[in-house]
Amino acid sequence: MTGRILLSAPDVGDLEEAYVVEALRSGWVAPAGPAVDAFEREVAARSGAAHAVAVSSGTAGLHLALLACGVQAGQVVVVPTLTFAATANAVAYTGAEPVFVDSDPRTGTIDPALLGRTLDELRAEGRTVGAVIPVDLFGTCADYDELIRLCDAYGVPLIEDAAESLGSTYRGRPAGSFGAAGVISFNGNKIMTTSGGGMLLSGDRKLAERCRHLSTQARQPVPHYQHEEIGYNYRLSNLLAALGRAQLRRLDDMIGRRRALRDAYAKLFAGVDGVDLLGADEGANCWLTSIVVDPARTGWHAEDLARHLAAEHIETRPIFKPMHLQPVFAGARAVLTGVAEHLFEHGLTLPSGSVLTDADKHRILEATTDFLGRKP
Ligand SMILES: *Cc1c(COP(=O)(O)O)cnc(C)c1O
Repeated sequence: MTGRILLSAPDVGDLEEAYVVEALRSGWVAPAGPAVDAFEREVAARSGAAHAVAVSSGTAGLHLALLACGVQAGQVVVVPTLTFAATANAVAYTGAEPVFVDSDPRTGTIDPALLGRTLDELRAEGRTVGAVIPVDLFGTCADYDELIRLCDAYGVPLIEDAAESLGSTYRGRPAGSFGAAGVISFNGNKIMTTSGGGMLLSGDRKLAERCRHLSTQARQPVPHYQHEEIGYNYRLSNLLAALGRAQLRRLDDMIGRRRALRDAYAKLFAGVDGVDLLGADEGANCWLTSIVVDPARTGWHAEDLARHLAAEHIETRPIFKPMHLQPVFAGARAVLTGVAEHLFEHGLTLPSGSVLTDADKHRILEATTDFLGRKP
């Protein structure tokens, strides 16, 4: 029996080991040190941002970005309903309320026209919108031309949740570089990992310095531990930054492998009426590949394929359950078209990891072809 094929397992090896061991031997084991500084410079350069602050998670980065934009209780923050809970949780940490907006059907990212209507309504009601946080879903950038135009028109800061989109571009511009701040995640399942960690990016030096200050318990730069406001322990360890530096050197190769896998899925489903691939515009890093199934045309449901692949020890997963359907956000306002619920119900994310071997790929394609062949 061959092993289980996972959705998006970490891709680490000798290079990562060498970098982490070197950092360990250097004695810089704290959440500060030369690897943190170098990692910040390298990710900033890669993302086209002037400033970068290494943090303990993407969620921490989102929280800091919101605080630096002045978001607080009594305000609302607009986020897509189709996202990972971290986007909305970070809003809740500030005391502000999330307002959920539905998705564009082709990419699953926030629907700009619907965002425009929402900002209009909120303004008419006299609500203060502290920020808008578009999410680059599965590595496909949100529609920034429209979103930036809207946020500028309404005078609302845009924070880019680029947790999933490191290495992606939108009209030639790198993900993470849009808006007041962008936030990348290096969680274990992301396109590259520090096992846990994140990076806050900004073109605004003062905003970046504010986040750096808040991430170190808001300790003043004096010897006697002076604190004038509440801070957080959100810095990244030097050991993990070293791991990140090794991963960054391999990022293009890892993106190439994910894109090749996506191309193989595109080819496989090209002739299947009623199956579309979600998102992945030109420039997307292809972090995760999802299909959307129209059972009226295929005669089968996404979960039928999921069950078939599970029996072959191949992991798949539904697209995110929308935030407005989550019990924890049951009371929140949501502006809906039904797209996110449709994607949740009829979508399926397929194994997309850069660690997958040719043999793994063959197994997935064979099992899927086998499933498709059995259907009428
Ligand atoms: C992973 C993820 C986050 C959170 O990042 P962590 O590093 O796990 O805290 C935030 N938003 C989205 C869309 C994500 O996928």
